[in-house]
Amino acid sequence: MKNSTALITLLLILAAITLTFRLATPAYEPDADLEETVFSTDRALVHVKKIAEAPHAVGFPAHREVQQYVVRELEKMGLETQIQKGYTAGDWGNLSRAENILTRIKGTEPGKALLLLSHYDSNPHSALGASDAGSGVATLLEGVRAFLAGGIPPRNDIIIVISDAEELGLNGADLFANNHPWIKDIGLVLNFEARGSGGASYMLIETNRGNARLIEEFIKANPKYPVANSLAYSIYKMLPNDTDLTVFREDQDIEGFNFAFIDDHFDYHTVMDNYDRLDRESLAHQGNYLMPLLLHFSEADLGNLKSLDELNYFNVPYYGLVSYPFEWIWPMFLLALVAFLAIVFYGLRKKRLSGKQMAMGFLPMLLILLINGVAGYFSWSILQWIYPEYQDILHGFTYNGHAYIAAFVYFSLGVCFLVYHNFKEISVKNLLVAPAALWLLICALLAYYLPGASFFIVPVFGLLAGFFIVSQQKEPNAYLLAFLGLPALVMFTPFVKMFPVGLGLKMMVVAMVMVSLIFFLLLPLLGFYRIKRGLAALFLLLFIGFLFDAHLSKGFDADRPKPSSLLYVLDEDENTAQWATYEKVPSPWTTQYLGSDPAKPRKLGDKTLSSKYSTGFTFVANASLKPVSGPEIQVRLDTLMGNDRLIELIVQPQRTVNRLEVFTNDISLISAVVNDITLSEYYLEHRRRGKLINHYISDNDSTVLKLAFPKEEQLELTFYEASNDLLSHELFSVPPRPENLIPMPFVLNDAVLVTKTVFFD
Ligand SMILES: [Zn+2]
Repeated sequence: MKNSTALITLLLILAAITLTFRLATPAYEPDADLEETVFSTDRALVHVKKIAEAPHAVGFPAHREVQQYVVRELEKMGLETQIQKGYTAGDWGNLSRAENILTRIKGTEPGKALLLLSHYDSNPHSALGASDAGSGVATLLEGVRAFLAGGIPPRNDIIIVISDAEELGLNGADLFANNHPWIKDIGLVLNFEARGSGGASYMLIETNRGNARLIEEFIKANPKYPVANSLAYSIYKMLPNDTDLTVFREDQDIEGFNFAFIDDHFDYHTVMDNYDRLDRESLAHQGNYLMPLLLHFSEADLGNLKSLDELNYFNVPYYGLVSYPFEWIWPMFLLALVAFLAIVFYGLRKKRLSGKQMAMGFLPMLLILLINGVAGYFSWSILQWIYPEYQDILHGFTYNGHAYIAAFVYFSLGVCFLVYHNFKEISVKNLLVAPAALWLLICALLAYYLPGASFFIVPVFGLLAGFFIVSQQKEPNAYLLAFLGLPALVMFTPFVKMFPVGLGLKMMVVAMVMVSLIFFLLLPLLGFYRIKRGLAALFLLLFIGFLFDAHLSKGFDADRPKPSSLLYVLDEDENTAQWATYEKVPSPWTTQYLGSDPAKPRKLGDKTLSSKYSTGFTFVANASLKPVSGPEIQVRLDTLMGNDRLIELIVQPQRTVNRLEVFTNDISLISAVVNDITLSEYYLEHRRRGKLINHYISDNDSTVLKLAFPKEEQLELTFYEASNDLLSHELFSVPPRPENLIPMPFVLNDAVLVTKTVFFD
């Protein structure tokens, strides 16, 4: 192949990849003057700005303001709103009083209603919630406004629930799904969410059965930029999920679609989840889903969306969603297998293929997988060893994470070209047998174990077609071979980025193996390049370049602040106090309290607070005692009934607090009722590390516990009462964080914590 042809096809590949990413989301242009009847991203942004002014988690002052704002905006549209209030404890003992905002648009016909869902509370305690889920609320407010401005009454009722306390334990969804009369009317849910502050919004189906009817109707609704595939659907179905929509599915067998963007994951649940950082294209993408789906599902029959059939589906940029039934999976596989065997046997018979060379072809392939797999597997550990401060980014996705993804993608490509350069004595047609066999093996395993990923076979047909051409012709047309590689580029390159972005840089190995596998699919073309060594050098240089770029941006500043944490912990039983942090590499702001040589925690370590990543305190230091009072605990009842001992106690805060966690010793609780909410037997049996309840407190509410346990056992209750006001507390004069620091997400932070134990023996 001429070097010029090689370079042109390489540029074509680059263009295809660029377009794949560009065409996944709508472009954002200022659109405040769009006519009233269409969705305007700018108009939605006005809502985001208002919602994200201050942290508005349950129990925080701005929570009420955001609630009132949303109510006002709905009422401006002529809708009648109601607030549904009540306690729930979710599935994992997270208790809070949710206040859902509800409204309903009457349809012209009887039948199932469409539910539009998002949540208005932000994550405690510092998140501003611009993306999570201010973007979702804003999408619904702007979308419903545009819909109503159209003036055509919908056939189905449209119910809008702006739920509360999603961040605490899906409490608002729980309250609505199990206590509101409207629930029985609902046929389908559209839920808008965010797990980062940018990137494409993924559609994820939530159903107890098959996806066929949902996908069919979704395709009919015809959103312009669908990003969805049945691999994500299959994985999502296997994992324990936690969106509001999960509650509707599990408790009421109502299905629906989630729409969530996940890029720039480092902003998730932090003060950086702010108005400026919300990617405008992500918000436009949410609007792009909502409008066609709202038009379609407000008219469609929502009573017949259940189905036992499953579809494979994937999105093709510009074209839309492609789907086919699970029944095609094995026939498609067999077709590919037969085609592969036919090409090989025919080639061998005609002496175009050589058995020895074919076998040799496995060497470079396995070598590439080995090098890229091992490098990928250790990359994150090595990076954390070189840059220990990365451990304080609990998301596992650093601010320079995209540079690392680029670096390791180039590394993988460099390895691919270098290895194949060293095996250039094997002819391309013989080289192709190994990758084709490997891909067929992968497809067989997927068809059996992860059928939702069976669409992976589609690009394999491109590879087989390339293999056939190459085995027949001495000088095949390079552009035709590039064209046959197109499905691989369009379908698989987004996964390379998706895994490390969504699940953290520890997933780099998946990205690197994926790059290698895509390379194999393009081998009918790339195998003919005579510039492999030059390209290997180029890509390895790019690898070093991006590593260097990442190194230059490893530091923290106002735009990329380091997560930091500080707590004051007072032990009322022992009358001692400590400073504590969750930081692995404490910032100077933290060490002013912890000292330059802080101790590892001893006693506090085993009384670890429940936190998303089960992270215990990393360092503690002695602190002076301050007159902070823990909760007042009153025993209202302590009696025997048969073989059970019943106790009832009320825990009353003596200061402004945000959260009360209660732990027990290892005891077999017969029943537990907290603020009139009965904890499920399943939860009582499976609760971890003695956690009984985590009460996110609003309006300084008290906590009333009614417990029953065998009379011969002894009960020990430990209370952790926290307020998030360390930085504004009058007894402390903690200086504000410098601008290169933010409160660490996922852990209790900026807190004044009082611990206390009560025994019943
Ligand atoms: Zn959320």
